[in-house]
Amino acid sequence: MSGKSDILIIGGGLNGLPLALALAQGGLDVTVVDARPAPARGEAGFDGRAYSLAAASCRLLRAVGVWDAVADQVQPILRIRTAGGRPDLGASPFVLTFDGAEIEDGPMGTMLEDRFLYAALLKAISAQPRIRLLSGEQVVDQGEGWALTASGLRLEARLVVGCDGRGSSTAQRAGIGRIGWDYGQTALVTAVEHEKPHGGTAHQLFLPTGPLAILPLPDNRSSIVWSERRSIAEAVRALPAEEYLAALRPRFGDFLGSLKLAGARFSYPLSLSLARSFVAPRLALVGDAAHGVHPLAGQGLNLGLRDVAALAEVVIRAARRGEDIGAPDVLARYQDWRGPETRTMALGMDAMNRLFSNENPILRLGRDLGLGAVNALPGLRRGFIRQAAGLSGHLPALLRGERP
Ligand SMILES: Cc1cc2nc3c(=O)[nH]c(=O)nc-3n(C[C@H](O)[C@H](O)[C@H](O)COP(=O)(O)OP(=O)(O)OC[C@H]3O[C@@H](n4cnc5c(N)ncnc54)[C@H](O)[C@@H]3O)c2cc1C
Repeated sequence: MSGKSDILIIGGGLNGLPLALALAQGGLDVTVVDARPAPARGEAGFDGRAYSLAAASCRLLRAVGVWDAVADQVQPILRIRTAGGRPDLGASPFVLTFDGAEIEDGPMGTMLEDRFLYAALLKAISAQPRIRLLSGEQVVDQGEGWALTASGLRLEARLVVGCDGRGSSTAQRAGIGRIGWDYGQTALVTAVEHEKPHGGTAHQLFLPTGPLAILPLPDNRSSIVWSERRSIAEAVRALPAEEYLAALRPRFGDFLGSLKLAGARFSYPLSLSLARSFVAPRLALVGDAAHGVHPLAGQGLNLGLRDVAALAEVVIRAARRGEDIGAPDVLARYQDWRGPETRTMALGMDAMNRLFSNENPILRLGRDLGLGAVNALPGLRRGFIRQAAGLSGHLPALLRGERP
């Protein structure tokens, strides 16, 4: 078996797999190499991890052929309520509500559990003859170029894509530096079952020590992304289940009735990590390998899927025109498309986190009034809803639900 393909993707996570599908559907041969064995995660039970996928990301999943496999397992997000607040005192009266009914494009987002998304992607990959998925240890060949050896095969490609997450060793190997900083916060992630129905509403509560997202899942369950000052988070993480819930309750409030834990508990130290460039000779970076952002607006994977859509479009069109898909001018189109938008989003989320995660009374008043003002302006509100749905900006075909 030859180790040659058009494109070699390093990292078969939630960005690497859809990218492989999109490129293969565009007529390119793709090899995906992941450091860990593939089926382990796909077969897992519910572990509490779930993603809020913007409407545009759902269109991409439909276009690459995985939507039908997950459609029965999703929970549409019908509205988002955003407010400042304080533990014990609950949300401030200045609430900003985004109602999906204000735009004509259907639900602005959807919640989907990690296990269902990952399993559906793996199933679609196994049915695609143009994709080879290898897992396990790889040896990077010394010397020039991007050849590496995995599963006994020497792999070569005209273009390598680093989808290997925040600590991307692919980016490091290409000499791409990073900018960023530690937020001093840790996200505590779990799921809860509650007494009352959530009605499809997602809540983003900005507490002084970090934002708390309560995101609806099917049935009376919600996914929790609770960002806390690290010292507090470390102490909460170590608590037994009942005490963990007791710490969550005053922040969560009682609007959904009684609570119990409904998933495993995870913790993620939070930092901003942006690659200085998304491309290098014969290399492109996609997803967290290019940009690791604060999870407060649930945009990390959505940003990655925007990279997937843009890169697939640039590369497939270049191949059709007979261009070298790894040439600098082809990769520059990807960099120009994704670089500026990603930096703006990442720094916007950074600014929101700074503005909301503090107890300064003047800032608190300013942001409460700001939320109230946006809520009172339907035009501005609709603009934010389109942004949350991923429908603003220059959209590649896949984010419109079409193949490039
Ligand atoms: C608390 C939290 C909540 C979040 N919630 C949301 C949300 O609601 N919505 C949303 O859009 N985003 C969310 N995100 C962000 C989202 O989880 C990430 O953006 C997304 O999972 C990144 O996917 P990826 O494929 O780029 O990277 P990863 O998921 O990190 O995958 C990288 C893959 O590369 C493999 N790999 C690593 N190194 C190598 C190597 N050297 N060789 C081969 N393979 C390698 C790994 O095994 C892995 O499979 C959240 C993040 C956090 C921390």
